[in-house]
Amino acid sequence: MSATTAPATAHRYVRSFREGRASERDLLGGKGANLAEMTYLGLPVPPGFTVTTDACRAYLAAGDVPDELAAEVAASLADLEEASGRRLGDTDAPLLLSVRSGAKFSMPGMMDTVLDLGAMPATVPGLIALTGDPWFAWDAVRRFVEMFGRVVLGVPAERYDEQLHAAVAAAGVPDERSLPAPDLEALARGFLDLTAELGTPVPDDPHEQLRLAIEAVFRSWNGSRAKAYRAMEGIPDDLGTAVNVQVMVFGNLGERSATGVAFSRDPATGEPVPYGDWLQNAQGEDVVAGTRRPEPLASLDDTFPQQAEELRGYMRQLEAHSTELADIEFTIEDGKLWMLQTRVGKRSAAAAVRIAVDMVDEALIGPEQALARVTPDQLEQLLHPRFAEQPDTPLTSGGAASPGAASGVIVVTAAEAVRRTEAGEDVILVRPETSPDDLEGMVASKGMVTSRGGLVSHAAVVARGLGRPAVVGCGDLEVDVEAGEIRVGDTVLRVGETISLDGSAGLVVVGEMPLIEPEPDERLERLLSWADLVRRLHVHGNADTAEDVARAVAAGAQGIGLVRTEHQFLGARLPLVRAALLADSDEAEADALSALEAQQREDFVALLAAAQGRPVTVRLLDPPAHEFLPDLTELRVAAARGELDDDRQRLLEAVEAHSEHDPMLGIRGVRLGIMRPALYRAQVRALLSASAELTAAGDPPLVEVMVPLVSTSGELRWFVELVHSVADEVEAVTGTAPVYRLATMIETPRAALTGGFLANFVDAFSFGTNDLTQLTFGLSRDDVQARFVPVALAEHTLASDPFRTLDAAGVARLVEIAAADGRATNPDLITGICGEHGGDPASIAIAHRIGLTHVSCSPARLPIARLAAAQAALEMEDVPAASS
Ligand code: ADP
Ligand code: MG
Ligand code: MG
Repeated sequence: MSATTAPATAHRYVRSFREGRASERDLLGGKGANLAEMTYLGLPVPPGFTVTTDACRAYLAAGDVPDELAAEVAASLADLEEASGRRLGDTDAPLLLSVRSGAKFSMPGMMDTVLDLGAMPATVPGLIALTGDPWFAWDAVRRFVEMFGRVVLGVPAERYDEQLHAAVAAAGVPDERSLPAPDLEALARGFLDLTAELGTPVPDDPHEQLRLAIEAVFRSWNGSRAKAYRAMEGIPDDLGTAVNVQVMVFGNLGERSATGVAFSRDPATGEPVPYGDWLQNAQGEDVVAGTRRPEPLASLDDTFPQQAEELRGYMRQLEAHSTELADIEFTIEDGKLWMLQTRVGKRSAAAAVRIAVDMVDEALIGPEQALARVTPDQLEQLLHPRFAEQPDTPLTSGGAASPGAASGVIVVTAAEAVRRTEAGEDVILVRPETSPDDLEGMVASKGMVTSRGGLVSHAAVVARGLGRPAVVGCGDLEVDVEAGEIRVGDTVLRVGETISLDGSAGLVVVGEMPLIEPEPDERLERLLSWADLVRRLHVHGNADTAEDVARAVAAGAQGIGLVRTEHQFLGARLPLVRAALLADSDEAEADALSALEAQQREDFVALLAAAQGRPVTVRLLDPPAHEFLPDLTELRVAAARGELDDDRQRLLEAVEAHSEHDPMLGIRGVRLGIMRPALYRAQVRALLSASAELTAAGDPPLVEVMVPLVSTSGELRWFVELVHSVADEVEAVTGTAPVYRLATMIETPRAALTGGFLANFVDAFSFGTNDLTQLTFGLSRDDVQARFVPVALAEHTLASDPFRTLDAAGVARLVEIAAADGRATNPDLITGICGEHGGDPASIAIAHRIGLTHVSCSPARLPIARLAAAQAALEMEDVPAASS
C-alpha cells in the first residue's frame, strides 16, 4: 500500500503514519503529526501508527479504554507485521515496538518512551536468528524490562541501576557494554525478577504489554508532574495525549549502526550549518542520557559519509517544507538511515534573529513570517549586556526594573556616586529608594539597586529612561546609609566593595560577574526595518535631554513622545527652584524664574535641534512641589534640637505649607500651574522662544506643549489661553510667531470620560497610563506594586500586574473611550501612550487595536516597541505581503 492509496480514515481511534498530516496535531499530537508528515514526504520513517487523543479523551472520561480500541490496535499491528515481515511475540522472527507518548504540546512530566517492547526471554532465540548477536538480544530484553518496569509498573529506576552496577563490578569490566552475553542474560533475568518483586510481573504476552503501555501513557496525562506543567504553561487539561506505536530500528547492532540528534542549523548561533551529537553502536536515549560522550555531528562523515549526506538532504527537505529550524532524531541500523522524529527547534535569541533573516534571504519565508519568529523577550536579551552565566548564589533579588547588567563598587549616597565616578570608578548606587535628589548620582552610576519600591518607582522609571540596569524592591536588603554598608541576612558589604546586577533577571551578586555585551547586528537592523514597513503604530521615544533625544532617534524614534521637564529643575538649579517656590513676593519669584528660564531655553534649543524636525512633546512641570524641597522630617528634627537659624526656620515654615498628606493626589500637574502660573509661563516661554530661535535659523522644530493631570475642560481652557498669550509675548520679543501644537495628558478617569469635550481644546491626547492605572484602580503605584501586587498575583485576585501590562478590561477601556470620543470631536486628534506601558508588547498590541497614533517609550525599548507594533499589526490584520 502506498501513501496515496491509503484508505481515508477507517478507524476512529488509531491512525497509520501513512494517513496523517502535520496539520493534525490536535488529533495525533505533535510527535505523531510530524512522524506522519515525514512519512508523507517519503522520508525513511519506521512504520507505525498513532493511537489518537480522541482515544485518550474517551479513556479519561470513562476511566477505561473505549471498546473499539483493542480491535483497531490489532488491525494496525497486523499492518506493521506485514510491512516488517515479523510478528510481535513470534519466536522465530519477533517484531519489537517502541511506544512513545506525544501530546499536542511537548510536555515533560508525562510518561516516557518504552523501547524494545516484545523483547522477552522467549523471543531471544528469534532475535539472535535475525541479528546473529546474543549480546544484542539480551541487551534488548534488559532495556525493555527496565523501561517497562519503571514507566508502566512504577519500579524506581535506582533499583535497576543497583543491579546493573553490581553486575559490572562483579565482572570487573568498565561498563555494561563490556559485559559478556551470559552476564547480560543473567542481568536481564534479574531485572524480570526484580520487577515481579517490586511491581507486578511483566506479562509474557507482548500484546498485553502493549495494552498496558498505551494505558499507562493515557494515565500519565493526569500525573501530578504533568498537571503542574500544564498549569504553569497554560495548556488546557482536556487535550489528552496520543500514543505512537512504531517498529523498532536498532542503532546498537554494531559498528555499522549509530544514533543521534541533529538541528538543521546551529541553535545557539543560527549559523546555517547542521549541528548535533551522535554515537556509534548506541540506542535512543544513550545520546542524551548515557555515560558515553557523544561525537559532534560533523564527524558523522568520517564513519558514515553516505548516510551523513543523506541526512543533510533530509534536513534541507524538512526545512524547505516546514520553513522552520528542524530538530530531529535519527538512527542508522546496519548502514540504513532512519528518521525517528522532527520538530521545530528551540533556539537562542541570537539564533532566532539570524535564522529568521537568513531564511528570508534564502526565499524560504517572507519578511512578515520572519517578524513573527523573534519574540520581544528575545530582542530584549540581545539589546543589553547580561550575565554570561547563571549565578549560583545571588546576594538578593528583586524587581527586574530596567534591563542590562553591570558591575561596580557599592555606594549608598548620590554624592559619593558622583565623587567616585569622577575619580574613575564604576559605581552601583544602592539606596532604600531614590528621589529626585538622587538624580545626579543615578546619572553617574552604572546601575542601581533599591530595597523598596516597585517597577514604576522613581528608581525604576529613571533607570529605564537613562538606559541603566536596575533591580528594585529587594525585600531582604537593608541599606544602612549612616554606617556605609548594606546587609542581606548575615552578609555585610561595605561601600567600595564590588557587586554586579542583572536588571533583566532581577538579580544582585557579590563580586564582578563576567558579562556578555550586545553587538551591533546588521541582521537585526534589517528585521527592524521590515517591522517599520508593517506596523501602523508610530513609535516615539521618551527623552529628557538632548543626548536622550539623540539616542532615541538613533534607535528609530519617529518623534519624542514625552519630555519630562522635571529634569530641568534639578541638580545645580535646585536652589533657584526652591527660591521660586518659597518666594514671599512676586518680584522674588520672577527673579528666580527668569534665571531658570534662560537655562531652560538653552536646554530646549539643544533638545529640539537633536530631534531634527520630528515632533517633540514637552510636558510642563508635573510632580508635587515637595519633591523639590528639603526633607520635612529632617528640618523638624533639626528644629527640635534647636539647630535652625532664621533662614532655615522660614524654610521649615514654607516646607510645612507645601506638605501634603497625599502628594500624588495633591497640588501637582495643572493644579500646580494654576497655583503658580508664573512657573508654567516661564516654562512655555523658554520652550517657544527656543522654537522661535530655531525657526529663525531655518530649522523649524515641531513642538507640542503638553499639560499634565488635567480633569476638566476649564483647566484646558486655562492652559490654552496661557500658551497663546505667552506665544504672543514671544512673537512680540523675537519677531517670529512660534508654531506649536497643544496637547493634554489623559491620566485621570474624568479626563478619559470627557475626552469628547477636551478634544475641543487640543491637537493631541497622550495617555499617561501609570497615573491612569493608579487612579482607575485606586492603587498607589509606589506602595502597592512591590508589596501588594505579588501577593495579589499569587492569590489570583489580579490576573496580571496592571502597572506592567495595560489592564485590558478597565484602563484600556477608558483609553478607548477617550480616544473614540476625542476623534469624534476632532478627527485629526493625535493619540498616544507615554507611560511605562508604551514599551510593553502586550500593551502595544492593545494600543494598536484601539487605533492610537503612537506609543512612546524609553530609547532602550524602542526596538522592542517597533517589533511588537509590527507583530500586533500582523496578528490583527491582513497585512499585504511586502517583498524583502
Ligand atoms: P522523547 O520525546 O523523550 O524524545 P521519544 O519518543 O522521541 O521520546 O523517544 C525516546 C528515544 O527513543 C529517542 O532517542 C528516540 O530516538 C528513541 N526511539 C523512539 N522510537 C524509536 C524506534 N522506533 N526505534 C528506535 N529508537 C526509537
Ligand atoms: Mg524524541
Ligand atoms: Mg502622570
